[in-house]
Amino acid sequence: MNDDNTTDEGLPQEPEPKDSLPEAPEEKCPKCGSLLGPIVETKSGKQLRRCSTGSWNSETRQNEGCDFVKWLTVPPKELDEKCPKCGSPLVLMVTRFGKKAKKCSTNQWDPKEKKATGCDFIEWIGGKTEELDEDCPQCGEKLVMFTTANGKRLKKCSTNKWDPEQKMAVGCDFVEWQNN
Ligand SMILES: [Zn+2]
Ligand SMILES: [Zn+2]
Ligand SMILES: [Zn+2]
Repeated sequence: MNDDNTTDEGLPQEPEPKDSLPEAPEEKCPKCGSLLGPIVETKSGKQLRRCSTGSWNSETRQNEGCDFVKWLTVPPKELDEKCPKCGSPLVLMVTRFGKKAKKCSTNQWDPKEKKATGCDFIEWIGGKTEELDEDCPQCGEKLVMFTTANGKRLKKCSTNKWDPEQKMAVGCDFVEWQNN
């Protein structure tokens, strides 16, 4: 009979919420003791929580109140697929434009060196963009060839970008659908 409280499994694993933004657990600001605000996503797809007493003033471009910011790391989702280049598992990543790609899990961003390290395999899911050596007839910037998820192709201006803050496309609106 062994009824003491030790287990062989160590610390209990917290269930990780999948797919949707995780519900923010109640957490206190280490600077001022107020509760942290909800999880917000930056333009570059990073997630952070600000102190609830602090807020970003977009006019003065300064933080008002408590300036504590907690950056969250968003772990990429590991896929049940192997990298065709090196055999490591692939992970699913989502860019700030909401595009998805499979990339090699050995590929990491090295913030010190400011470059990617590891295997460079990447496969875009549902649409990809290639740079073209053609100038936009509207503004003279370069065109890109965009292939949609269902295989349709269109040329569009490289200055045309999705602005997630304004939730609208910005830049030159030249688009030319390809009939192939
Ligand atoms: Zn605070
Ligand atoms: Zn690889
Ligand atoms: Zn253009």
